[in-house]
Amino acid sequence: QLRLADNLSRLGTESAFTVLARAGRLAAEGRDIINLGIGQPDFATPEHIVEAGVKALRDGHHGYTPANGLPVLREAVAADLHGRHGVDVDPDTVVVVPGGKPTMFFSIMMFGQPGAEILYPNPGFPIYESVIRYSGATPVPIPLEEAQGFGFSADQVLEKITDRTTLLIINSPANPTGGVTPKSEIDKLVRGLEEHPHVAILSDEIYSQMLYGGRTHVSLLQYPSIRDRLIMLDGWSKTYAMTGWRLGYAVWPKALVDPVTRLCINDHSCVNAAAQYAGLAALTGPQDAVEKMVGEFDARRRVIVERLNALPGFRCADPGGAFYVFPNIEGTGLHATQAQDLFLDKAGVATIAGTSFGAWGEGYLRFSYANSLDNIQTAIDRIAKLI
Ligand code: PLP
Repeated sequence: QLRLADNLSRLGTESAFTVLARAGRLAAEGRDIINLGIGQPDFATPEHIVEAGVKALRDGHHGYTPANGLPVLREAVAADLHGRHGVDVDPDTVVVVPGGKPTMFFSIMMFGQPGAEILYPNPGFPIYESVIRYSGATPVPIPLEEAQGFGFSADQVLEKITDRTTLLIINSPANPTGGVTPKSEIDKLVRGLEEHPHVAILSDEIYSQMLYGGRTHVSLLQYPSIRDRLIMLDGWSKTYAMTGWRLGYAVWPKALVDPVTRLCINDHSCVNAAAQYAGLAALTGPQDAVEKMVGEFDARRRVIVERLNALPGFRCADPGGAFYVFPNIEGTGLHATQAQDLFLDKAGVATIAGTSFGAWGEGYLRFSYANSLDNIQTAIDRIAKLI
């Protein structure tokens, strides 16, 4: 009998990968499956970015880079953040990692241990709760409600802070709901946090460029009073359709740059150089591909919201960001997992049960509209027929 560590049994997962595997198996059996489950752009990485990665390999960039990322890339990240959010960022506080997830893992492990409480959104990205439990800390869910457009309520966050709170995780625009927290609520949250200087903040801003209806992104970096305890996560996966390249970054408080760099050295040494040079081309090259993708997502968003609202038993809020809709399906009489399984098995449409994003997701289903308009239309036709 192997003697595995206890904490391994507390580690969760991201169901999107399980559904992806199941959809793949069904497709291999000859079934025609439309995947509205996984959250990854259906576009290819723009050509000039791919070329920069290939060129880096041809130019001989085959070795280790500095553990926190190439200086030229960290400078480009700081310039990009200045351009997009109007903030000054010291490139030495930027730490480049393989995707968005490592920053999550490292920051939660840095602040999580038995006795600590970590606040996180529910429904929310499942990895937050999984790693909080793995660390031994107590997960304290912050409910995100449909009635509030799935945005954070400052009061609901602040009332959950105790002396034991070590970390607060927020995410806007949000996965799985597409919810965007309005600036007024973020202002209020930051004012409240000023009363709790022992709480670090992880702001997951991976969908910062995916906003609709004239909305603009509010970055937590824009609040000087919390900069010394803010970890701001962003990356290339969603914005530049680079999920498989594994490239992301965070801006860290100065005092935490050394510990997180040590975690990088212990974990992965550095991100492969080709991905970093590709990421550099993404930030410094033309941005028209991003605008085009976001415009396309916006058009699909409008179609999917309208079509889901026309299904019996469905009620779908209009999401302000990301590329997900999170319709309420209580009217169908189906539990979230029943609907997920039924739609995949009988209609060949992969979606994700709301409960995969926490207990508060019961009664909801996540659809990703990172798929072609044709596929979205066919998928909803099939579900309509099944219902
Ligand atoms: N943060 C959120 C909210 C996400 O939805 C995702 C991916 O789905 C990530 C982070 C992780 O992105 P990456 O693939 O770069 O690790």
